[in-house]
Amino acid sequence: MIPQMIPSFDHSETQAVTEYMESGGFITEYRKTEEFEGMIAEYVDARHAIVVNNGTVSLILMLMALEIGVGDEVIVPNYTMIATPNSVMAVGARPIFVDVEATTLCMDFQEIEKNISPRTKAIFLVSANGRYPDYEIDALEALCLERGIVLLEDAAQALGSRYPGGAHIGTIGKMGSFSFSVPKIISTGQGGCIITNDSELASRLRRLKDFGRASGGIDIHDSIGFNFKFTDLQACIGIEQMKKLDARVIRKKEIWQRFNSGIQGNGHISLFNHNLVSTAPWFIDAMVEDREGLIRYLRQKEIGTRVMYPPINEQKAYSRAGFYPVSADIGKRGLWLPSYVQITDEEIDLVCTSINEFFDQHERQ
Ligand SMILES: *Cc1c(COP(=O)(O)O)cnc(C)c1O
Repeated sequence: MIPQMIPSFDHSETQAVTEYMESGGFITEYRKTEEFEGMIAEYVDARHAIVVNNGTVSLILMLMALEIGVGDEVIVPNYTMIATPNSVMAVGARPIFVDVEATTLCMDFQEIEKNISPRTKAIFLVSANGRYPDYEIDALEALCLERGIVLLEDAAQALGSRYPGGAHIGTIGKMGSFSFSVPKIISTGQGGCIITNDSELASRLRRLKDFGRASGGIDIHDSIGFNFKFTDLQACIGIEQMKKLDARVIRKKEIWQRFNSGIQGNGHISLFNHNLVSTAPWFIDAMVEDREGLIRYLRQKEIGTRVMYPPINEQKAYSRAGFYPVSADIGKRGLWLPSYVQITDEEIDLVCTSINEFFDQHERQ
């Protein structure tokens, strides 16, 4: 069986957790969490890294820290994981959907401009599969500055990926968010992280995730807050995962290249392009003909795939009319191929051969 995705943990995580448990730790967030946060901050070169329960909570907290709520609008891509618009709903604001670029699957610049209204408070730039948009990110920053809008980055899929200038994705916006859910490039089972260079926002975020108090064990509350804290147990796993990140980034690029050569010349499937110098493909995303037929054929060969995100506006939870040709097309033809980091070259070759066989049969029919 070649699944679409499986997590990757080994003896190093087991050992780290066991050692921690035997050391008599409090399990809830403390020193190990600080160490994990320090590793992330250093890796992406941000002043602050604040870890929370998951990458949905991190998006919600970013909006809360900016006091975005009822009556406000936040621009989000119509192609993204559902958590992006749902986080806007969670604070009572309205997500405004814009279509994405057909090449990068990131929000289209003109579409963003067209959808800015007097109510727009923020833009959630989502780095789809670790990609950055086709326009200069400085131009988007300038637009936001000019219109008094905050640029936020949902970089859940982009840990290990950088903008062409070298800045890590997630560090250009006022705040950036990562996810450590099981399919992401590193995982703590569940987990999320907010990065920012703004110390005022960082302390606001820390209070928001800890009942609104300035420090643990003191029950004085100057502001409203909740409990979105991490655990040292997860941090032990996260620290080990961070040590493997650089090797994973390299392997993800090799996986993409091998898939790309394996399907070369097949006119019925194409991968979305990646700048492999600075970005790491998180999943192998492809546009295919006869998606249902291909999924069925691969399933018979015990090869797993996953349909890419349907357009947000067509999800029953939103059911909004609108013209979104690119995300609509992805919703019909987009398919994720097996993308886990431990996949072997032989397995990739088998997947490519099976795909090519399927389309050969098609042509002969
Ligand atoms: C995974 C993901 C999220 C949600 O993260 P969780 O940790 O699963 O809550 C949000 N946005 C994007 C783009 C994602 O890929």
